[in-house]
Amino acid sequence: MPYDTNKTYDHNLIQKPLRLVILLGSKCQLHCDYCFQQNSSNHIPVDNFTPSKIEDFMKSLRKFDLSNISHVTLWGGEPLLYFKTIKQLVPRIRQEYPHFKNFFISTNGLLLNQETLEWLYENGIGMQISDDGKNQDRGLKAIQEFPRIRSFVKSFLETHPDMHVKINAVISKNNLDLYQFTKWAMQAYGENIKISFNVLHTPVEDKDITNNSLYRFTDKQLQLVFTSTFKTFTELTPSVRSRYDVYLHRLLKLGNIDTVCLSGRNAQLNVDVNGDTYVCNEFPFKQTRKFIKTNDRIKCNDCLVKNLCGGSCPLISDKNVYCLCDLSFAFYYGIFCAIVHNTTGLDVYDIGVSNDLISRLGNKNDYDKAILNNRHSVINIQRL
Ligand code: SF4
Ligand code: SF4
Repeated sequence: MPYDTNKTYDHNLIQKPLRLVILLGSKCQLHCDYCFQQNSSNHIPVDNFTPSKIEDFMKSLRKFDLSNISHVTLWGGEPLLYFKTIKQLVPRIRQEYPHFKNFFISTNGLLLNQETLEWLYENGIGMQISDDGKNQDRGLKAIQEFPRIRSFVKSFLETHPDMHVKINAVISKNNLDLYQFTKWAMQAYGENIKISFNVLHTPVEDKDITNNSLYRFTDKQLQLVFTSTFKTFTELTPSVRSRYDVYLHRLLKLGNIDTVCLSGRNAQLNVDVNGDTYVCNEFPFKQTRKFIKTNDRIKCNDCLVKNLCGGSCPLISDKNVYCLCDLSFAFYYGIFCAIVHNTTGLDVYDIGVSNDLISRLGNKNDYDKAILNNRHSVINIQRL
């Protein structure tokens, strides 16, 4: 059932979700600058999931039709802070829902040790570790602790190469050079580590974003995102190969892309310990909020990289998406050019935002000065 953007969204309406995301609680040991959960006044902490609540949780799951679920993701805050619960919860879920095949945990990695890693491995739970390399956005604790964690994970993977591990990096001011990042990650975690990237986006309020320097990028910074993305995805090391295939698939899917994420496509059920559901797993909030489909955004409709980008987060207002668009465009345009290069051997010249589109946007929309300035830098992405 597609979203009706004129109505507020109720997650209980999902008929047959494909993915279940369990929100174990909002606690986390880090304070990343770009964190959705801690940086908005709109965020309501999710109740903590303790082992004593497992049976009630199992009861609450029965009100959903979970027959199409194949993926389960353990989410937080930091889910490994709830390791005691996880150790009992996962076998219990597997017992009741044997068709749930793939389990993943999305972790900041700080609590990874021999016991947790072995347990995850033995229980067939894949892992996504959030790691931005030398990035300073994540605070002193991450900087101090991460070298130890990385070498520990690297040696674990040498003896357990079949464990599904991916690292995920946020592209931010402190993490603009994706090529250097990829090279660095392959040294830190081993040649075959899988890497994915998130473009900075956050569904906070307009006022939180328009004056926040975290979201302002210079032409030079955008250029670096573009060139390093192009280089990363033309060199195609094993680490980014599977990501490239995802982008290629998205680009070739010529039909409409409603929204970028599964939450927006009505395919993901985000549920907390009480069986309450949330619009988005990254940013749990209970207030109703409207979704904006990619095709309902004027600027995205004409955009060259629409199918790759998906129009950013469907929960962000039109105004905010245009604030964050420069970074998205630089990244996805780099991927677009890499796909053209890899498949045809040709390089892309002079594609970008056309003057016609710029003048139409200028006439049609009344964006504030900051957004207009920001849009300008998209135009300056240089030809290859
Ligand atoms: S790059 Fe910008 S205009 Fe293009 S689809 Fe993404 S958010 Fe929309
Ligand atoms: S709605 Fe989707 S894109 Fe937006 S923050 Fe949530 S998961 Fe990310």
